Amino acid sequence: MRRNAKREDQTGRLLAALVAAALLTVLCGIIHQLYHREYAETDTPNDCFAASAATGETALPKLVCLTFDDGPSKNTRPILDILEKEQVPATFFVCAQDANEAYMPLVADIAAAGHQIALHSATHQYSKIYASPDAFWQDIKALRQALEPYVEVDAIDWLRFPGGSTNTVSHRYGGSGIMKTLKAQAEEKGYHWIDWNVCAEDATASHPNAAQILRNIRRDADGHDLCVVLLHDTKATGQTVKALPDIIQYFREQGYTFCTVAQMDAVKNEIN
Ligand code: ZN
Repeated sequence: MRRNAKREDQTGRLLAALVAAALLTVLCGIIHQLYHREYAETDTPNDCFAASAATGETALPKLVCLTFDDGPSKNTRPILDILEKEQVPATFFVCAQDANEAYMPLVADIAAAGHQIALHSATHQYSKIYASPDAFWQDIKALRQALEPYVEVDAIDWLRFPGGSTNTVSHRYGGSGIMKTLKAQAEEKGYHWIDWNVCAEDATASHPNAAQILRNIRRDADGHDLCVVLLHDTKATGQTVKALPDIIQYFREQGYTFCTVAQMDAVKNEIN
């Protein structure tokens, strides 16, 4: 009886070890898959920079572009104050909706401070701007007109498609080929366009606090020498203002140089 019990005990231990080994193998597989999925997702939206990231480009210095979409708003002034204090350049992809009409004059201050002004959308309403290529360029025309009193509009040649260049929400209104058409047309018209590879997720419905915004950025930036960070300066993104000094400090500590989107492109072109 005792010998049988001992044998059962040994078999039990062997089985437990086998189960543990099997679980560990499965767990490693899942981690491996998650790792690659994260990289695939963060690189895919950024067509402009995915190529250099994918080739393991090491000649470039570590650069970071802080980009602010959907403003100006009441949160733009505090953002400008922080950027000035920290002596950090940024890029603003602006809108011209009813909601931010009162803040449009701030565009002149953004430009005067040496930041880059770029185009995003007048209405930012997907159903309107992605109804057809014509509708999209009409919206861009309206945005340029709204900016005219404040900045030299002819000098603006960068844009960011609302929802990003690989968005699928546009397919609902303008068909599955609309983004491809718009990208080709943008290039024909002499525009550069850019997405992002680091997402602050600061304008999501969950309204993350400043600490979460910083965590989101650190998660996406990890391992990238070129970071284009998507942030927002709408009236709802007060937590972005709160997080900004820590975001700047994080990139400084990691050895990045801050630049505008146009400056990053110039550096890339110089090296390539
Ligand atoms: Zn936007």
